[in-house]
Amino acid sequence: MRESNYLVVGGGMTADAAVRGIRELDRTGAIAVVGAEPDAPYSRPPLTKGLWKGDAPDSIWRKTGEVEGVTLHLGERITALNMARHRATSDRGNEFTFDKVLLATGCVPRRLPSGGDGVNYFRTLADYHTLRRVSDAGGTVAVVGGGFIGSEAAAALALQGRKVTLLFPEAGIGARIFPADLATFLVDFYRGKGVDVRAGEQVASIMTVAGRYTVTTKSGFSVIADAVVAGIGVVPDVSLAEAAGCAVDDGIVVDEHLRTSQRDIYAAGDVARFHSPQLGRLMRVEHEDNALTMGKAAGRSMAGDITPYHHLPFFYSDLFELGYEAVGDTDPRHEVFADWKTPFREGVVYYLADGRVRGVLLWNTWGQVDAARGLIAEPGPFTAADLKGRLPAAA
Ligand code: NAP
Repeated sequence: MRESNYLVVGGGMTADAAVRGIRELDRTGAIAVVGAEPDAPYSRPPLTKGLWKGDAPDSIWRKTGEVEGVTLHLGERITALNMARHRATSDRGNEFTFDKVLLATGCVPRRLPSGGDGVNYFRTLADYHTLRRVSDAGGTVAVVGGGFIGSEAAAALALQGRKVTLLFPEAGIGARIFPADLATFLVDFYRGKGVDVRAGEQVASIMTVAGRYTVTTKSGFSVIADAVVAGIGVVPDVSLAEAAGCAVDDGIVVDEHLRTSQRDIYAAGDVARFHSPQLGRLMRVEHEDNALTMGKAAGRSMAGDITPYHHLPFFYSDLFELGYEAVGDTDPRHEVFADWKTPFREGVVYYLADGRVRGVLLWNTWGQVDAARGLIAEPGPFTAADLKGRLPAAA
């Protein structure tokens, strides 16, 4: 029997932040962290960014195990919760007791129908090492998906001088968040960096022959590569929550104190669906700032804090020398007003609905995230003309 006051299920960035949140208020309560990955909590963004640009491999560790009174159980997965007895069971047959449990189970990658385990879904440190070995040996890579993982992995590999083919079904890169003209610009921009970009392509099959992969698309295009990376989205891992009777709706539904619908079960990070007062709706966010801020808030809440979680998380990415920060609902199906200082190189894109700013994309524009949050909170009404020059690029 493993006894603790706080059980944290999941060993990612949210879990680490929660541990630290608990410790801010409760100096002594025993904390158990159970994570399915063999590695202790680490920062995930460097896997597609900094580690390819010379950051020290050791810089990723979050050192959760150094927090007093924390026990890490790695390579182990909680498989059932018994809330009547406040116990959890793991796939190793271990039993954990707790007063409160946090579900920080994150998301699992959507998988392509073919390619099996040979496809690298690029979520974990092990996935990074696998791709790094191919890259260091000079291998070629087919990258499937034009979202965050696809665009960042393709850029990282191209910067290493690797031959990369980037395939995705949409017309442009980042088409789920960028306005169409910017997403199309990025296709040419990536081509200019040497990436073979194949827009409008859907994978039909992935065949393995002699350790190499042949990716064939529905249009008949095919490419042979030494590795296949796929970033085609993720789905929240809600299985434990569902089995425990928690309300689930594309994620585990939490209140403003990060409590689920079941007493003593909390949830945070990628897996949690929370209410945003600024946007006036439920949302789920799969980015670093949310993992860190919400994880810490959940830890504090479990330890007795009554401050509500009202944070509107931001996200960011690097695409070669271009980069951005963004906040709110950056859905290009909204009315979009792009206030470019230099087209597609520097500017601010506003996403409007019902006369209010719902999202802001700060393209090569820095230091404006809080101002963007303020604008999203304002009642308006705003028109595109009102927004010209509203959030200027920092000097
Ligand atoms: P993503 O950003 O949601 O992009 C997935 C893309 O793949 C979407 O454009 C999706 O199109 C497309 N897609 C869906 N099914 C496909 C298929 N069968 N073939 C080809 N493309 C397909 O997800 P991701 O890149 O996989 O990233 C996974 C998670 O990691 C996300 O939660 C992301 O936020 C997170 N992440 C974040 C960062 C960052 O914050 N900078 C960096 C890396 C990863 P549809 O829209 O049509 O489905």
